[in-house]
Amino acid sequence: MAYPWLREPWLRLVASAEAGRLAHAYYLQHNVEGGSTEFIQRLNQFLLCKQPGKSACGKCKSCLLYLSGNHPDTWTIDGAEVNRIGVDTVRELQQNVTQTANQNGLKVAVILEAEKMTEQAGNALLKVLEEPPADTHWLVSTKDAERLLPTLRSRMQWVSIAYPTTVQSDEQITLAGQLLAGLRGQQELPLLKDKEGALSWLDISENLLMDWLLISQRAAAARLRYEQLADELQQISSYEWVSVAQLSEWVSECRQLRQLYQGSTGINLPLLLSFAWSRWSNALSA
Ligand SMILES: [Zn+2]
Repeated sequence: MAYPWLREPWLRLVASAEAGRLAHAYYLQHNVEGGSTEFIQRLNQFLLCKQPGKSACGKCKSCLLYLSGNHPDTWTIDGAEVNRIGVDTVRELQQNVTQTANQNGLKVAVILEAEKMTEQAGNALLKVLEEPPADTHWLVSTKDAERLLPTLRSRMQWVSIAYPTTVQSDEQITLAGQLLAGLRGQQELPLLKDKEGALSWLDISENLLMDWLLISQRAAAARLRYEQLADELQQISSYEWVSVAQLSEWVSECRQLRQLYQGSTGINLPLLLSFAWSRWSNALSA
């Protein structure tokens, strides 16, 4: 798989398939750069394949039809092509799906950027998922899971993917510097006001800790996300205030927080992240 972070979620799905425990509907974080669409397409082909192993065989008639874009038993609504996904679009998909499979196998319906569904469209999808046809799977991606109806989310299984964070802006580097100073007790830790803010601070925390970890392992500064902080991190590391094991633990703590947040929108991310910061800060000043 071209994207290493997709490997683990993929293997989990394959294991579910082998155990005959696939859910009728899956949803995941839409992230084109991170390979979310490739992941869905790969799963789509896998579900249609007549002789799948750990992935689709790529040779059977179903695979060939899918790869040529002509498989009659799969349909995709791509939210990227429209301003919103209306109820008629979802109903049309629903009608297609209720027909008998042409290739005598499963049917797969895909909705990309599902947050663009109107409330009516969401309700129409909910109706289908309340009594899903046995031979149909729904694969849904969304940029913002919270904009899907909670009742709809509860009918689908979340596929947790730990996408890497992206290239840093100058503003983020400044913020990372503030966080570092806060953790070292040189200034107040940043204030976490809302979920969106906390989510971007979570990214910054993870990037900063990754850099710190790399520096502690004597990595070249060029590989850092916040190169501008390399000297300061180098200095801190030379005091050996914090072990490599400790830093790795904090990095995975960031990832766990993100997965927790992506899986359940009810968690209080600002609170949890500020607790984590206080603990790290205390460990540093101990
Ligand atoms: Zn195949």
